[in-house]
Amino acid sequence: MHDDRKSGVTRRGFLSGALGALGAGAVLPGTARAAERGALATLIDLSLCDGCPGREMPACVAACKAWHNHTIPRPVDPIPVPFPRAVIEDWSKKQDVSDRLTPYNRIFIQQAEVEYQGMRRAISIPRRCMHCDNPACATLCPFSANHKHANGAVVIDPDLCFGGAKCRTLCPWEIPQRQSGVGLYLHVLPTLMGNGAMYKCDLCHEWLQQGRDPACIEACPKKALLIGDRTLIFQEAEDRARRMQGFLYGKEENGGTSTLYVSPVPFELLDQAVEKGKGRPGLGPVKRRMDRTDPLGAVVLAAPAVGLAAGLAGSIKLLTDRRAKVKKEEANND
Ligand code: SF4
Ligand code: SF4
Ligand code: SF4
Repeated sequence: MHDDRKSGVTRRGFLSGALGALGAGAVLPGTARAAERGALATLIDLSLCDGCPGREMPACVAACKAWHNHTIPRPVDPIPVPFPRAVIEDWSKKQDVSDRLTPYNRIFIQQAEVEYQGMRRAISIPRRCMHCDNPACATLCPFSANHKHANGAVVIDPDLCFGGAKCRTLCPWEIPQRQSGVGLYLHVLPTLMGNGAMYKCDLCHEWLQQGRDPACIEACPKKALLIGDRTLIFQEAEDRARRMQGFLYGKEENGGTSTLYVSPVPFELLDQAVEKGKGRPGLGPVKRRMDRTDPLGAVVLAAPAVGLAAGLAGSIKLLTDRRAKVKKEEANND
């Protein structure tokens, strides 16, 4: 079989580009295989997503839940009450919630009704992590539990995460969500340090490593979600926006991301129309929080916490082993 992966573009990817050039209705198939070892990006076409009417749950949401939810351990009972902030976030008994982000719902569909150019439009908007180009959520994770991979995916390792939620604080969309009562903190100082583990979309990183497309993309009946070589996806997004005289979101936000939304109506209108709040991010203009962060910042912030952890418990070996494993996996995969 002819395979031109060395050039970063397979026949499938080339055909995808050609199809995309045919018109706004043409559909790019998933193209993760086309660039399985290079930088990827995703495109979310709001002119194609219809929110999956008639289904109990949108296909993308159901696929994500089916693939990920069994990976979250059952929380301990009772969940330790942290000090000084006695905040417990337990979604384990609300796993069916699908109208906002939770650890058990890493993608959801926002609904917006807007009037634009004299027409009333109903727009369905899949929301999940944007996989930012310079994610402070990863750079400043005190436990180095969050990494930006060469393929573009920003991935939290729940086995290293202490659930302190710094990533959520630093994320302009407050995407990561906490499940209390699970994770490494239970073996260290469960009431004084940590509060569970953070979860969010990982771009189905394991599937990408196997050359598969993410579960939500495979499941979407409208082909509203696409993945492929970053350059091709960016080009496709620009082309579609031009053809539909539409708008882009994700190219500049938070300093650039690996997720481009294309919409037939302005994002300012969508931002005004969607329900916002915890687990329900907006779509407004976003500057980078913690601009100019770098790995040194992570070291400085991490030092007291990591030192305390190491001094107070025998868990440092677990952390070290786990980090070594992650580094080895990254070296093999990136
Ligand atoms: S992205 Fe696809 S699967 Fe998800 S709600 Fe839209 S049409 Fe349905
Ligand atoms: S959207 Fe938020 S959680 Fe996702 S990579 Fe960007 S900053 Fe991190
Ligand atoms: S890419 Fe994977 S983890 Fe992310 S929303 Fe889709 S199915 Fe869920």
